[in-house]
Amino acid sequence: MIDFELTDEQRLVRETARDFADREIVPRARDNDRNEHFDTELVQKIADVGFLGAIVPEEYGGRGVDYRTYALIVEEVGRGCSAMRTVVSVVTSLVCSSIVRWGREEQKREWLPQLCTGEALGCFALTEPDTGSDASNLRTRAERTDGGWRISGQKQWISLGNYAKLALVFAQTDPDERHRGIACFLVPTDSPGFSSSAIHGKLGLRGSDTAELSLDGVEVPDEALMGDVGDGFKVAMSALDSGRFSVAAGCVGICQGSVEASVEYAKERKQFDRPIAAFQLVQELIADMVVETEAARGLVWRAGWLKDSGKPNTTETSIAKLYSTEAAVSCANRAIQVHGGSGYVDDYPVERYLRDARVTTLYEGTSQIQKLIIGRAMTGVNAMT
Ligand SMILES: Cc1cc2nc3c(=O)[nH]c(=O)nc-3n(C[C@H](O)[C@H](O)[C@H](O)COP(=O)(O)OP(=O)(O)OC[C@H]3O[C@@H](n4cnc5c(N)ncnc54)[C@H](O)[C@@H]3O)c2cc1C
Repeated sequence: MIDFELTDEQRLVRETARDFADREIVPRARDNDRNEHFDTELVQKIADVGFLGAIVPEEYGGRGVDYRTYALIVEEVGRGCSAMRTVVSVVTSLVCSSIVRWGREEQKREWLPQLCTGEALGCFALTEPDTGSDASNLRTRAERTDGGWRISGQKQWISLGNYAKLALVFAQTDPDERHRGIACFLVPTDSPGFSSSAIHGKLGLRGSDTAELSLDGVEVPDEALMGDVGDGFKVAMSALDSGRFSVAAGCVGICQGSVEASVEYAKERKQFDRPIAAFQLVQELIADMVVETEAARGLVWRAGWLKDSGKPNTTETSIAKLYSTEAAVSCANRAIQVHGGSGYVDDYPVERYLRDARVTTLYEGTSQIQKLIIGRAMTGVNAMT
């Protein structure tokens, strides 16, 4: 049976994360957004407090927390700044959880402690210029060499790609095999032939690093292969099971932040000689936000509970991701409405919430892809192709 009661430890972690977000993340969020500044100093503070790789077992440098506790951390970081939440999600869920699940012992020992301490950042390189939702159709090729592999191709929209020391690179070893030919490689980004360039002009997540990667005959040894040849697609999908959960939890933070900012503003701002909180139509905006926030959090916690119980959860994770990301967009949009003209400039966090929320319905599987996953689970019919 699902138990939503937090343990004492979870309460403590939530309080710590909330204090940390208010003290360290919130004060820097606006300027980092304005300046498109990827704040590596703040990333290090997030690592120092143990929020990178929190779900990684302690023997590899993590905190060994369960998924529900992880959700509490990610919610608070997401309330503070989605650019920093992206760092937590990518490093912890897409990179670390893949290595925990698929990596060989030496790969775990080499990379996980560095990733958890922030000594190394990792990125997850799946998407390509011609391959987004249809992730099995990769053009990046990996060819066998004596004792290793040579990888060539382009990757697009890769979060942290300009700062990562490690890239999880997904490449096709045999195009005839389609998704059964895909392999995942742990590629150090200082390998000869590996280069990156920054993507600018984003609507939101401006304080997050986004890169285009180029692999021009990058040579890696056999030991760089994670899982077997042909496991790559499964590695990617399992990473997304964790990544989507993390994005969803971060979006609960955007929803909660939208509620808190709106309640505070509505009580202060006066029109027609009374606080705007006294108007029923303003209360409706707030009530709708609260309902969506609670529903999103409930779905995230249910998915987390399933993960912690070792039960299948791909569909429930997609439901949480779909609902929470759309809720974040609509809560942020309503929060701007409550703030009136003031909501349209960055004196308040709400316009940033909207710009940052917008990408979450696109990455780690668009809302349409989540609906197709849910629809497939319900009907047994694949409507994706
Ligand atoms: C800021 C940012 C950061 C990102 N970070 C990463 C990262 O770290 N690593 C990584 O690998 N990728 C990353 N991505 C890429 C992201 O995951 C992709 O953008 C996403 O998967 C969608 O792919 P696409 O952009 O190619 O869109 P497309 O797949 O071309 O989709 C375009 C439209 O068509 C719809 N569509 C596509 N197929 C179907 C279908 N079968 N049925 C119905 N509708 C369909 C989509 O829902 C969408 O509305 C990032 C993207 C952004 C913007």
